Amino acid sequence: MLRKLFHDFIGVILPRTCIVCGRPLVPTEEVCCTGCTINMPLTHYNGEAGNPIERYFWGKIPIVRASAFMHYNPHTAYARIITQLKYNNRPEIGIYLGRLIAKELTNTNFFEGIDCILPLPLAWSRQLQRGYNQSERIAKGISEITHLPIDTKSIRRRKANKKQTQTHKLLRHENVKDIFSLANPSTSASPSSPLEMLGAHLGNTQTHTAQQAQQTEQLQTHALHPIHNTHPLTGKHVLLIDDIFTTGATLLSCSQALLSIPGIRISILTVGVAGQHRWGPKLPEECKR
Ligand SMILES: [Zn+2]
Repeated sequence: MLRKLFHDFIGVILPRTCIVCGRPLVPTEEVCCTGCTINMPLTHYNGEAGNPIERYFWGKIPIVRASAFMHYNPHTAYARIITQLKYNNRPEIGIYLGRLIAKELTNTNFFEGIDCILPLPLAWSRQLQRGYNQSERIAKGISEITHLPIDTKSIRRRKANKKQTQTHKLLRHENVKDIFSLANPSTSASPSSPLEMLGAHLGNTQTHTAQQAQQTEQLQTHALHPIHNTHPLTGKHVLLIDDIFTTGATLLSCSQALLSIPGIRISILTVGVAGQHRWGPKLPEECKR
């Protein structure tokens, strides 16, 4: 009751608007208005075998399943969902997207057999700058619906890659080569919050929230051990999460690092897939601003 009153009060002094079309949101709407949600340029891959995301990995690495939720075109209003999440301090958008994606896939077998969710890690410097990892926020939304645990400890990113837009297509795979590594005893588990990341960078002892500790207790314990047959992800089926599938180079690089764990199985899920040639339904005129 108090929360609703608080939200109504905030709504009066600072009206919430749809991130796509800018129209005011009604209390039951979140991030996107109903019209823009209905008109989202979904891929309708629904995790089906042989979709374009899966085909990208064929012949490169073994994966179980892969899918992307919506088409991403940076020149349409729908791109604001991603740009606001990544560059305008709107972490709640990630949770919203995660819930939306999980609900879309709930009636498929996409989550079947998956043991945990692995958000693609950011380099500590970029996460410190952004304040959060957008893939972790998306993973949190998915976890709320699927109740799968999130593992932010088993893999870390050594460095931030250059922005893909600044890199020639042919150089993108080289740009992200070997930028991921598994957690080991000397580095401990990879931290998830900016302060933890800074602390880790400075060699301080890390602390975790009670929720994080509960979700990843087993994984953290084992992440402190060398990579061997008792690694916590040995024989596990992990779901790797990223925001946009552009060239696939970053996801491929992270998957290659994970594949050094014996028996690991990998599935991949992204919010968007970039590329005009894959563009789906025509957008309403009001959304092309
Ligand atoms: Zn709208």
